[in-house]
Amino acid sequence: MHSLLRPAAALSRLTSVRLKSVDSSQPLTAKRDRNLCDPSAPDFLTFEDPQAFKAKSFWELIRALGVFRLCSFPSLVNNCGKLMSITRKLVGKRCFCMVVRPSVYAQFVAGETEGEIADSMQKMSALGLHPMLAVPIEEDLGESTGERRYDENLAAMLECVHMSHSKGWSKNPMMQLKITALVSPELCAKLTSLLKTEQYDLNLLVRAMEGEKVQFPGLTESENTHLLLGLQRLYKIGEASVNKVRVLVDAEYTYMNPALSLITTALMKKFNQQSAWIWNTYQCYLKESRNLLSDAIQTSADQSFCLGVKLVRGAYMDKERQLAEKQGRTDPIHESWERTNDSYNGCLEIMLKLISEDPERYMIIVATHNEESVRRAVTRMEELGLDRDGSSVCFGQLLGMCDHVSLTLAQQGFSVYKSVPYGSVDDTLPYLVRRAQENRTVLQGIRKERDLLRLELRRRLTEIITAAR
Ligand SMILES: Cc1cc2nc3c(=O)[nH]c(=O)nc-3n(C[C@H](O)[C@H](O)[C@H](O)COP(=O)(O)OP(=O)(O)OC[C@H]3O[C@@H](n4cnc5c(N)ncnc54)[C@H](O)[C@@H]3O)c2cc1C
Repeated sequence: MHSLLRPAAALSRLTSVRLKSVDSSQPLTAKRDRNLCDPSAPDFLTFEDPQAFKAKSFWELIRALGVFRLCSFPSLVNNCGKLMSITRKLVGKRCFCMVVRPSVYAQFVAGETEGEIADSMQKMSALGLHPMLAVPIEEDLGESTGERRYDENLAAMLECVHMSHSKGWSKNPMMQLKITALVSPELCAKLTSLLKTEQYDLNLLVRAMEGEKVQFPGLTESENTHLLLGLQRLYKIGEASVNKVRVLVDAEYTYMNPALSLITTALMKKFNQQSAWIWNTYQCYLKESRNLLSDAIQTSADQSFCLGVKLVRGAYMDKERQLAEKQGRTDPIHESWERTNDSYNGCLEIMLKLISEDPERYMIIVATHNEESVRRAVTRMEELGLDRDGSSVCFGQLLGMCDHVSLTLAQQGFSVYKSVPYGSVDDTLPYLVRRAQENRTVLQGIRKERDLLRLELRRRLTEIITAAR
């Protein structure tokens, strides 16, 4: 049994804790109320049928209930990183893994070896869900690991491309990619500052990706060399995935995103001539999200490439706000959850309309756990006559979260992807901690999923008791 990822050490760097200061109860209550109020929504969109879980095993139901119960304690979620490392020290690595592996890890991670991952993927396929593999490697400022590590990360990503398409787990395979696993965050931050005054030509970036020794303005010799190497690494992923796997590039922090978007756009220009094989992510909690999306649509038209969009609300709200305050900048995040929702709905509408006009050219994944957003997307899809299982519109949730949404959609014939991290307990622990904190509001609000799980469990127990009589 070998891990598919490179040694754990580089992965187990815990980064800045992205704490959120959201009052989870308020938006979630508002959300539930609105879900019940929309008379035009199809019945299944109330997401209230416990039968959605019928394909889950008895143990999976109990595990999910237990893990979500733990996630409902804010102090546990907020401090899970510290708690896990203390527990690991106290009980030792083996004992720790024995507890974490069948519980939290199994709930949110696909496995470590190819065999374990294949098992998880087959279960997922049986439920009608598509996996979207995600190598859980990312870096923040101060964590840069050097060229050798980035090459190892490249190997892990290429393995991910290979697994995503060679196993037949999905008819339209997708995977996620974080550019900061391949290019240092320091360089991305520097490029972002340079982009405020310099314009970087997309063709120049494409030529650099293809191996030409380009000198980019504003960079030192060593920064330039690192950028060239980083671009070539990304090019290899593009080459390996084109016509096989759609690569969804993640959005990260605003002090790096412009550089990440520039690189992603260059990849799109190179690889998205026939179809959207490289996608970018738009974080609707940003005040500028609508403009960013409009610019991307314009650029894709001007430069004649197809556009793939991952639409999210955004995961780094608290840190973004803290940074803006510390640096005396205007907060880049919308003032309220409602504004973020308006922004999400607006971007969704723009994309769905474009797709209805040209489904070959534009694609979207509605990546959210929010029932209201999903309902809106589904309702608009039906109004615009978009296919439920066409490849232009699909839905995305994280593995182990909001299965009642994913499974209901899948059962109704929509195309649903679960973002699936994989790797050893050590490899994925930092990922799990980050995701738990980023999705705190979602995790603490999954009372409905817990109620549905309980109902399904009760139904099965009643069945067993009745059969035994
Ligand atoms: C498949 C997939 C891929 C993803 N990729 C990325 C990615 O590349 N980059 C990324 O950043 N995130 C990414 N995410 C994470 C996503 O951003 C979080 O899951 C998301 O923020 C939670 O939002 P929601 O729509 O699921 O839930 P909701 O509960 O509806 O929304 C919560 C979100 O609303 C926003 N919000 C909450 N309170 C406020 C407030 N007071 N003011 C303004 N905004 C507020 C925040 O973004 C918060 O996370 C991804 C998620 C999925 C499922």
